[in-house]
Amino acid sequence: MPGMEQEVNAMSDCIFCKICDGTIPADIVYEDEHCLAFRDIQPKAPVHLLVIPRKHVASLDDLSDADRELAGHMLLTIPRIARQQGLEGGYRTVANTGKGGGQEVFHLHFHILGGGTPKPL
Ligand code: ADP
Repeated sequence: MPGMEQEVNAMSDCIFCKICDGTIPADIVYEDEHCLAFRDIQPKAPVHLLVIPRKHVASLDDLSDADRELAGHMLLTIPRIARQQGLEGGYRTVANTGKGGGQEVFHLHFHILGGGTPKPL
């Protein structure tokens, strides 16, 4: 299908694609066929992880129906990663979407924050 190859390939100027393909280092705590999780470089909580799809999707706004399985997989994987990291007491999950949502890195990611006392939103 035209355009498909470009969509699944890494974006050359995307820092999170570079983490996926190993060209820049990260403290990876979990990986599977569809996604990976690594420690945020500027942690805002005692445990602060980012869960990203291997496929370059810019944000939640850019998921399509074709990404249904990927999106479901990521949501189901977040609690598994949280448990593996010892966050049995709970954690916050955040996805900033677009500049107006505070998104700085335009490769979809879910923040997992835990291990401390959360501030009310
Ligand atoms: P915000 O910076 O407002 O949280 P995002 O939701 O786009 O915006 O989050 C990007 C996150 O990516 C930030 O928490 C930032 O610390 C983290 N980050 C940026 N570069 C790296 C990197 N190389 N390794 C790990 N985390 C990174």
